[in-house]
Amino acid sequence: KVAAFEKEFAKRHNVSNAIATTSCTTALHLALVSMGVGPGDEVIVPAFTWIATANVVLYCGAKPVLADIDKHTFNIDIDDVLAKVTKQTRAIIPVHLFGLCVDIEQLRSRLPSDIYILEDAACAAGASFKDKAAGGLGDAAAFSFHPRKSITTGEGGMLTTNNDQLALIATQLRNHGASISEE
Ligand SMILES: *Cc1c(COP(=O)(O)O)cnc(C)c1O
Repeated sequence: KVAAFEKEFAKRHNVSNAIATTSCTTALHLALVSMGVGPGDEVIVPAFTWIATANVVLYCGAKPVLADIDKHTFNIDIDDVLAKVTKQTRAIIPVHLFGLCVDIEQLRSRLPSDIYILEDAACAAGASFKDKAAGGLGDAAAFSFHPRKSITTGEGGMLTTNNDQLALIATQLRNHGASISEE
């Protein structure tokens, strides 16, 4: 059932990989670890979000750096993100707050190419920006199926990515290092 859900979810969000997790928090954590984020690194997160967005950065031993939000969208302010980028910045976690997608295309075009973009798409299952589905806008994305989100599995999450290398690492780390599951 989980494998079938992953397949349908990937299709609906137009991404090549969907990896189910126990929550969005787990998916965000797994994504950052798979990206190699660790001590000494900085990850930029919006100042207005659910606290998990910043906590997952701390789980990796990295430093969350707060960027202000745009007063019209309540989403991360791209100008302020650029002002907060340093040599230590490894990733940005833009949050599609309440399902309203961040302009990831603009963020990508203005950001150094070696900095990962991890969408916090907790509330954005089924959302899109200019006809492109959430989940495939950045390098990876994390969705939530907590009861207060748009769809729920009781508890649960999904990591999506079009980066097959990242997907391979995440799939193994999800399963205690094993590349083949018993299912
Ligand atoms: C709900 C939420 C999360 C955490 O989701 P869980 O599945 O409960 O871990 C993370 N980020 C945002 C923006 C959320 O709204």
